Amino acid sequence: MSVLSCADLHVAIGGKAILSTVSLSIEAGKVTAIVGPNGAGKSTLLSCLAGLRQPTSGVASLDGIALTGMKPRDRARRLAFLPQTPEIAWAVEARTLVELGRTPFIGARGQARDDHAAVDRAMAAANVAAFEHRIVDTLSGGERARVLIARALAGEPEWLLADEPLTGLDPAHQMDVGTLFRRLADEGMGIIVTLHDLSMALRMSDRIIVLAEGGVLADDPPATALMPDVLRRAYGVEATLTQGPGGPLIDVIRRA
Ligand code: ADP
Ligand code: MG
Repeated sequence: MSVLSCADLHVAIGGKAILSTVSLSIEAGKVTAIVGPNGAGKSTLLSCLAGLRQPTSGVASLDGIALTGMKPRDRARRLAFLPQTPEIAWAVEARTLVELGRTPFIGARGQARDDHAAVDRAMAAANVAAFEHRIVDTLSGGERARVLIARALAGEPEWLLADEPLTGLDPAHQMDVGTLFRRLADEGMGIIVTLHDLSMALRMSDRIIVLAEGGVLADDPPATALMPDVLRRAYGVEATLTQGPGGPLIDVIRRA
C-alpha cells in the first residue's frame, strides 16, 4: 500500500513560519481530510505533499522517495493535484481539458486508445460526459470544478490531492464528489482533501487532520478528531458534535 509522508516539514515564507515540524504518514485507500482555519497552512501543506513546493526544511516522500527529487513526469503519473483556484487558460472544450490530464502518458506519437478510454472513464466518474463538447468558459462554476476533477482522474493517479474541491459546489454535487472520492479510495486511491465544511469532513473522510497555526492540532478518525476543545483552539468557536438524520454534524454555537 502506497504511503505519502512528510517528516519535520518546515516552511517559512519571507521569514515567517507557515508550517512548523509537521510529520505525517498517510496511507492510500483512505480519504484523509485536512481542516483548519483560514491561513492555517492547509494549501501550503498540500502543495508540499504534492511535491510542488520545496519545504524550507524537512522532506515529503512518496513510498520513501523524496517528492521534490522525482522527475515531474514520474510524479505526475502517480499523483494528481487539484489546486484551489485552477487557472483555465484557454476557451477549450471540456473533453480537451480532461485530455490534458493524460499529458504525462502521451508519447511522441500522440494519443493512444488507452488515453481515450481513460478520458471516457474519468468523465463518467466525475459526471461530466454530457457536456464534453461544451467550451469550459460556458460551464457553471460547479460544472467546471467537476471537469477539473475529471482532468485529475484522467491520469489514473494513485493519489489525488485536492485543495477545497467542494468549495463552490451546490449540496447535491458536494454529495456526488464525496461519494466519488469514497469509491476511489475504496478502489485503492489515496485521497487527501482540504475542506472547510466540518460536517462534510466528518461524513466523507476516514481521518481528519486539524491544522492550526502551521502545526497539527489533532489527527484522528472522524469520531474523535473534532472535539469541542480542538474546535475552540483551532477556530475560536464553541461547537458541539451532534447526530443529525444524515450523519454527524458540527453545530457551531458562538465564538469562544
Ligand atoms: P490555508 O490554505 O490554510 O488557508 P495557506 O497555506 O494558503 O493557508 O497559507 C498559510 C499562511 O501562509 C497564510 O498566512 C498566508 O498568508 C501565508 N502565505 C501563503 N503563501 C504565501 C506567499 N506566497 N507569500 C506570503 N505569505 C504566504
Ligand atoms: Mg488554502
